[in-house]
Amino acid sequence: MVKVFLPGAIIGRSTESPLRRLAADVKPADVHTSGAGYSAVMMEDTDTLKLAEAALAPARRFRDEACGAAAQALAACPGHPDAAQHATHALAWIATTVAGLESLVGWARRGRDAGRRGRIDALVLQIGAGEALAALGSGIAMSAAEYARPAELGLTPAAEAMLQDDAVRQLIPGPDAAAARGELAALLLAGQRPDETLDDGALDAIRATVRAFAADRIAPHAHRWHLADDLIPREVIDAMGALGLFGVAMPTEYGGLGLGKLAMAVVSEELSRAWICAGSLGTRSEIAAELIAENGTEAQKRHWLPRLASGEVLPTAVFTEPDCGSDLARVATRAVRAAHGAWSITGAKTWITHAARADLMTLLARTDPARPGHDGLSMLLVPKAAMQDGCDFPDAGLSGSEIPVLGYRGMREYALSFDGFRAPADALLGGAQGQGFKQLMRTFEAARIQTAARAVGVAWNAFDLALRYAGERRQFGRSLAAFPRVADKIALICAETVIARELTHDAARAKDEGRRCDVEAGMAKLLAARCAWTSADQCVQIHGGNGYALEFEASRVLCDARIFSIFEGAAEIQAHVIARALLKA
Ligand SMILES: Cc1cc2nc3c(=O)[nH]c(=O)nc-3n(C[C@H](O)[C@H](O)[C@H](O)COP(=O)(O)OP(=O)(O)OC[C@H]3O[C@@H](n4cnc5c(N)ncnc54)[C@H](O)[C@@H]3O)c2cc1C
Repeated sequence: MVKVFLPGAIIGRSTESPLRRLAADVKPADVHTSGAGYSAVMMEDTDTLKLAEAALAPARRFRDEACGAAAQALAACPGHPDAAQHATHALAWIATTVAGLESLVGWARRGRDAGRRGRIDALVLQIGAGEALAALGSGIAMSAAEYARPAELGLTPAAEAMLQDDAVRQLIPGPDAAAARGELAALLLAGQRPDETLDDGALDAIRATVRAFAADRIAPHAHRWHLADDLIPREVIDAMGALGLFGVAMPTEYGGLGLGKLAMAVVSEELSRAWICAGSLGTRSEIAAELIAENGTEAQKRHWLPRLASGEVLPTAVFTEPDCGSDLARVATRAVRAAHGAWSITGAKTWITHAARADLMTLLARTDPARPGHDGLSMLLVPKAAMQDGCDFPDAGLSGSEIPVLGYRGMREYALSFDGFRAPADALLGGAQGQGFKQLMRTFEAARIQTAARAVGVAWNAFDLALRYAGERRQFGRSLAAFPRVADKIALICAETVIARELTHDAARAKDEGRRCDVEAGMAKLLAARCAWTSADQCVQIHGGNGYALEFEASRVLCDARIFSIFEGAAEIQAHVIARALLKA
């Protein structure tokens, strides 16, 4: 059995984080074997896994051919790498699809080895692997309009060779594919779920605890808060702090739980499954904390980290400017030394989430105007007054205005104007000038893992809503789920979300093992962002007209899902970064 600490019973009554107690209490031996309580029909079904394992080799060969093609395309336009974007970004998507397939197979193997593999898991594997291989062979959707097609990349022979492989041929959707999708949808409607066990009793218990918290404190209210454009209530933030959710991966010596990035991903996923805002709120503290933990002076760590971990201090990331978003090296906001060594900040920032309520800004500014690129940038830890008495920005030298947005509500977005705003003399992160961009880059791995996890959570939210509606709504005398095209959608978004989740978890595991994982984290973010959007779009479609009505949650999830391929590295920038790393390797 998985232990669940019911939030109502713990919040506000203990100074020790329930998750900390839980992490210490639960031993790996407590790992359960039936997929978090969902019953799975056990059957001898190793064929699909054997096929998927066998299909990895031809898929990897195809990816390697794509790498060669991208390198050639790049070599053909020396000095103009953007001219080769079609080939390089296609490579990123091809490699990401193969990585997703590898993660899916890893998930299936772990389930088999632990004796957990049921019919539903075999179906997810068959459908997920089949769709991935079919996309590799015929064209991967990089966005709703653009495809990475083998023919355009000169990869037709390589794609044909892959498609002729025996294992690939058997997995690619054929005449029986619709029946498999229908069977998966039926099992899902009957209450079964794909295996989500983490092979670690503590992590499984954390998932169950955060799921119960989110179901109790967030999910029932999220849509009302979204429609009213309310800030997430302070008491919910306090409850999250009491549960330890702001410091899941932060070092224990500074007040965090020290549970690692996989735990952080699971927490982000579960909170986002209830509401994107809840998952994102924790994210902000974790990433600000990592920035400080990795780069700060001892005094900065001692001062800020315990406050961030408890939720007493809420941070906001202040990087983007009206004229530079993707190209952050061009940040123009100036920070200059003023009297007594204090900093004076002048410039304009935009898209700053939770800016009014935040107490701490991690602010990227130019401290050396003689250096126009990233070398002239520094990171400052800038305290600010939180909103009070109806005034969003009470500090002198700082003003802001809200940017009304489609979704991602609950923290609000702001354009900020700094006019000689004062920061203390010790605000410079790590006491080092000119390091800001590099310091920020070092947090990208964790930030992207977390964003991928948030996207996976939103994808599950869409799946949950779609499944429920398809089961309840009747047309032509039958439930919607009985129609093959509706069942297809349910089965496909479920399989893709499992792939995105496993890819995200693998990136987190790599990070926890101290391995460099910039490519893995970027791939997870790229795939999970597409998955969230696809799932939300399909959820709206299943809802028909009601999906378009603001009163239905499907409309919120659609708006929330759209953000993932824009922030934390837009999908195009993400593809660029992945391809560059692959081509260097
Ligand atoms: C809801 C929301 C919350 C946010 N929160 C924060 C926050 O808290 N703090 C913060 O600092 N920022 C935040 N951002 C800003 C976010 O990080 C930026 O929007 C993002 O980096 C993209 O920058 P941009 O909007 O200026 O788009 P641009 O950089 O102008 O890009 C526009 C489009 O062009 C594409 N493009 C750009 N360059 C290339 C290229 N070389 N090749 C191919 N395509 C390219 C992009 O991929 C994108 O599709 C937030 C944004 C939003 C919408």
